Amino acid sequence: MTVTADSTTVGFVGLGIMGRSMAGHLQAAGYALHVYTRTRSSAQDLLDAGAVWHDSPGEVAANADVVITMVGYPADVEQVYLEPGGIVERARSGAILIDMTTSEPSLAARIAEAAAAKGVKALDAPVSGGDVGAREARLSIMVGGDEDAFDDVLPLFELMGKNIVLQGPAGAGQHTKACNQIVVTGNMLGATEALVYARRAGLDPKRVLESIGAGAAASFLLNNLGPKMLDGDFAPGFFVHHFIKDMGIAIAEAERLGFDLPGVKTALAKYEKLVDMGCREDGTQALIKAYED
Ligand code: NAP
Repeated sequence: MTVTADSTTVGFVGLGIMGRSMAGHLQAAGYALHVYTRTRSSAQDLLDAGAVWHDSPGEVAANADVVITMVGYPADVEQVYLEPGGIVERARSGAILIDMTTSEPSLAARIAEAAAAKGVKALDAPVSGGDVGAREARLSIMVGGDEDAFDDVLPLFELMGKNIVLQGPAGAGQHTKACNQIVVTGNMLGATEALVYARRAGLDPKRVLESIGAGAAASFLLNNLGPKMLDGDFAPGFFVHHFIKDMGIAIAEAERLGFDLPGVKTALAKYEKLVDMGCREDGTQALIKAYED
């Protein structure tokens, strides 16, 4: 398939914090967009700019050459792809399906198999870079699946991201995202504990950030979320409950592979405490509240 704005219709399912921005970049580049998301009001900006609404993921698939999904949980992914009348069942012959949700490698493989049985190709393509990366089209996109399908849809990935790598067969994108989230857990614990330490030591934590955010400890998370932690800005860029989902996926996959992730389990316990504190819908930077409680 040759993917161009003139010849390719794109379906987009899941228009939350991430999906809205990502779909917006495709629309801005001239792609005809067919959309569905659970809460219709989330699609309003895209509809105002000319996107076509459908009442189910399956209907989107029936009207699109490429279908992209960015929903919440593996259970949502399973539902939109595999339910009767869902995306796989209603996909057009020769279509390419791309799940960009952070989900389970084994589910990605099952979807690719079900799609192949219908003569359709499916890629898993989770992302990293946060809400900022989605807004600025600077995501890192980690892809699993068929190489020809990857080459075909690369022009779409390039409108949403800056670093796009095919990692291997179906599920390899999700495994890579699990590696990403393992690093993120360590980073979040380190950034939070350093800022709590700075406060307890009587330092000016913003000034501390000026130093440690520019040395070997610098990171995207420290520099983007550290200031929010200090300002008490806990609005979600990345929901606490989604991060808990991701840690659960990494822990379960590691167990399946026969090893343990003690660092991730420590972070998970802290985030579960946050949920007990009523912070499920906060951004992940709310971790600092679990230390100050
Ligand atoms: P979000 O704001 O909750 O967006 C998810 C969207 O999908 C919502 O609009 C939701 O509808 C819709 N949805 C969920 N289940 C659906 C279903 N079964 N059918 C139709 N629509 C459905 O979350 P997000 O922050 O955009 O994250 C989306 C995914 O990307 C998650 O897997 C997350 O872990 C991952 N991710 C997020 C970030 C980040 O920084 N935010 C970064 C990388 C990866 P409702 O509004 O009705 O719930």
